[in-house]
This record gives sequence, structure tokens and C-alpha cells, in this order.
Amino acid sequence: MLPKSLIQLLEKHRDKIEGTIEDETDTGDGYWVYLRPGWCTDDIGLHTIHEDSAQEVVKAFRYVQPCTCSSCKRANGT
Ligand SMILES: [Zn+2]
Repeated sequence: MLPKSLIQLLEKHRDKIEGTIEDETDTGDGYWVYLRPGWCTDDIGLHTIHEDSAQEVVKAFRYVQPCTCSSCKRANGT
């Protein structure tokens, strides 16, 4: 079960998050967030957020921005 903060993040940003947030904390691998085509992290072209804690995921998500990499451009047909 995802922590409340991540459920809220997911609800609020369904337009940016592909599918669900994957919780791998039981194996010590943290949380994985896959962004939809057209969005990336603070690094242009990086479409996955991987953090150890829910708090860090929420923090990293603040820097999600429109992505202008070639694969996003292709996906959006521009
Ligand atoms: Zn991209």
C-alpha cells in the first residue's frame, strides 16, 4: 500500500504519471514513478523518478517539466 502522500500525488498528477507508482520498498528498492510521454524529471530526457522514500518522491516531482527529448516529441507527434 502506497503512503497517503504518494496516493495524493498520483491522484493529482494522473496526466503526468503513467499507470501507478511502484512500491519496491519491501525489497529495499524504493519507489518508481514512470512519467507519461511529454514529461520528464529535472533532467530533460529522464522519464523515471526513483527515490528511497515517499518524501523524496514528492520533492523530486516538483521538478517535473515538459520534456522536449526526441522520443517525447515523436510520441506527441510534433
Ligand atoms: Zn522525453
